[in-house]
Amino acid sequence: MAVLRKFHMAIWSKALSIALFFVTMLLFLPLIYHFGIALQPATKQAFDGQVTIQTSDFSQGKGLALDGDWSFFWQQLLEPEQISGTTKKSTLIKGSGGWQSGKHDLNYDAIGFATYHLDVALQQAASNLAIRIPQIESAYRLYIDTELMASGGLVTDYLSAGKPGYNTAIVRIPDGLKAFSITIQVSNYHSSWGGLWEPIVLGDADSLHTLQRDKVALSLFIMGALLITAIHSLIQFFLRPTDNIPLVFACLCLLLFLREFTIEHMTFALSALSGGFVLITKLNFFSFYAGIPTALYFFHLSYYQEFHRKYCSFVYILCVIFSAFVLFFPTRYFGISLVMFEVIAVIVMFYILQRMWVAMKNGQKGAGVMLIGSVIAFAFAVNDILNVSGVITTGRFFSLGIVGFIMSQSFVTNTRFNHLISNNDILTDKLKERNADLELLGELLETKVEQRTRQLKLANIELKALANNDPLTNVFNRHGLQQFIQAAFERYRRSQELFCIVLIDFDHFKDINDTYGHDVGDIVLLTGADLIKAGIREQDKLARWGGEEFLVLLPNTDLQGALAISNKLKNAICAKPIGQPIGVEVSVTGGVALVNQDDTFDTLFKRADDALYQGKQNGRNQICS
Ligand code: GH3
Ligand code: MG
Ligand code: MG
Repeated sequence: MAVLRKFHMAIWSKALSIALFFVTMLLFLPLIYHFGIALQPATKQAFDGQVTIQTSDFSQGKGLALDGDWSFFWQQLLEPEQISGTTKKSTLIKGSGGWQSGKHDLNYDAIGFATYHLDVALQQAASNLAIRIPQIESAYRLYIDTELMASGGLVTDYLSAGKPGYNTAIVRIPDGLKAFSITIQVSNYHSSWGGLWEPIVLGDADSLHTLQRDKVALSLFIMGALLITAIHSLIQFFLRPTDNIPLVFACLCLLLFLREFTIEHMTFALSALSGGFVLITKLNFFSFYAGIPTALYFFHLSYYQEFHRKYCSFVYILCVIFSAFVLFFPTRYFGISLVMFEVIAVIVMFYILQRMWVAMKNGQKGAGVMLIGSVIAFAFAVNDILNVSGVITTGRFFSLGIVGFIMSQSFVTNTRFNHLISNNDILTDKLKERNADLELLGELLETKVEQRTRQLKLANIELKALANNDPLTNVFNRHGLQQFIQAAFERYRRSQELFCIVLIDFDHFKDINDTYGHDVGDIVLLTGADLIKAGIREQDKLARWGGEEFLVLLPNTDLQGALAISNKLKNAICAKPIGQPIGVEVSVTGGVALVNQDDTFDTLFKRADDALYQGKQNGRNQICS
C-alpha cells in the first residue's frame, strides 16, 4: 500500500513539475518581447554623411540606430574642425559592421585608423537627447561638434602606441541644438574588426539609460542563476563523486557565466573592467570555444549510448585547439577563428539536437525535456549568430535561451533525484519488512536450536544409558560395570583395598524357557536382578554379564564377606517361586573370586567362572569359591 501511494505521489509531482516548467518558460515571453522587440531601436539611414531626424522618427518611443552612409577618412585621424568644410576627400562607409566587413565598396584592413563623421540635423531642437556609444574596436575618441565627449583606449596613428579599451557609454547631446556633428576617431591594432560594429543609437536619454539598466539587470539575474546552478551542481558532485555529470554541468554554467560577464553592456556596468580589452576579449572567446565542447560532453555523458565517441572526441580535440588559440594568440587574429568556429558550433548544436531526438525516441529518461531546453537555447544561439553577422536584426536572446536550458536540466536532474529518493524509500520499506522477517526467523531459529539442543542432550543421556545399561533388567551391562571394576583395581593397587566378584547363573534356565515361554523367562531374569539389587550395598555394583548370568562387584569385601553376601542373594532368589500366578521355582549357582596380587580382570574372572563351573558340577544351587 505504502509503495503504491508513493508511486501515485511520484506521478503527481512529475505532472506538477512539468506544468511548472512550462508556466515558467511562458513567463520568459515578456522578457523576450521587452529586450527583443520593444526596445530594439529603429534604424535611421544616413545619406552622404548626413541625416535629418524628423520628430515623428521618435514616435514609437524607441531609439534610432544611426546607420547608413557616414563620411569616412581612412588612415586619417581628423579633428572635427578639420572636417567641417574640409577639402579632404572622404569616402562613405556604413555606420555598422566594422570598416572591413564588405558592406561598402572599398575593403579596408582590420588593422589601421580612421575617422567617422556624421552631420545630424534635427527637426526640433534637442531636449534630453543622448547617444549610446556601443563597443568600438578597439580605441576611439568621440566628439559632438568640437567637444570631446567620450573615449576608450588610446587612439594613435601608429601601432606601438595604440591601446585598446572598452568604454561603452551614453552621452548627452546639449539641449537646444538643432544640428550637430558626430566625429569618431578610431584606431585598431588589437581586434579582427575595426571601427563601428554596432551603430550609434540616438534617443531619449532616460530611455537609453533605462534600457541599459534593464540589460544589466537581466545579465545580473542570468549570472546569478548560472552561479547558483553551478554551486548546486558542485554540491551534488561532492555528495556523489561517482557521477561526473553534475561536475561537467557546473563547468558549463561557469563558462556561460563568464560569457555573460564579458558581454558588452556588462563592461559598461563594470567600469573597473574598462580598458581590460585583451583580457575581456580572450575570456569572451574562451567561454564560447570551451563552452561548446563542454555542452557536448555534458550531453554525451548524460546519454552515452546515443552519442558517437569518435565524433565527440574529434570535436573535443578541435575545441581544445581553438581554446588554446584564443588563450595564446593576439586578439587581432580571432576573426578568422570565429567564422570557422561558428560553423563548428552550429554543426555540433544540430548534432546534439539530432542525438537528443534519438535519445527521446529510445525512451531515455528526461531526454524530451532536455531536447526542448536545447532547442530553445540553440534557436537563440543561432539567432544571435545570425544577428551578429547582420543577416537578421531580431535582437539577441541567447542569454535567455541559457536560462531555458538550465531550467530544463534542473528539471531533469531533480526528477532523477526525486526518482532516486522515492526508489530509496521503497527499498527502505522493503528492507524494513525483510529485517522484521529476518528477526522473526532468527528468534524462531533460536528457539528451534534450543529445542534441538535439549533433545540432543536427552538423546545423549539416553544413549549413554543404552550403552551402559541392560535394557531388560535396567542394571549395568558389561560396559557399564567396567569403570567400577577399574576403580576397584586402582583402589586395590593403591591401598590394598580388597574386593570380590561373584558370578550368579540361573540353573537350568533353558528348561524354564522351554516350559513357560520366553516372556516368563524374562520376568524371572528381571525379578532375579531386582532381588540381587535389593540385597547388596550402595557401593556394590550389579551387571548382567550375559544371557541369564549376573556379575556382582563387591568393593572393600574379603572372601568371607563375599561368600556370605552371595549365599544371602542365592537364598533371596530361591526363597519363593517367581512370577505369580504361575510361580516358577528357580535356583542359582554362584562362583566367588577374591582379587589377588598379580590379577588382571581376566584372571580374576576366570577364577570366578571356574568356581561357578565347580558349583554346577557339584549339583547346582550353591555358592563356590
Ligand atoms: P545350567 O544350569 O547349566 O546353567 O543350564 P542352563 O539351561 O541355564 O544353561 P544354558 O547356558 O545352556 O542355557 C541358558 C539359556 O538361557 C539359554 C537361553 O535360551 C536362555 N536365555 C539367555 N538369555 C535369555 C533372555 O534374555 N531371556 C530368556 N527368557 N532366556 C534367555
Ligand atoms: Mg548360563
Ligand atoms: Mg544357567
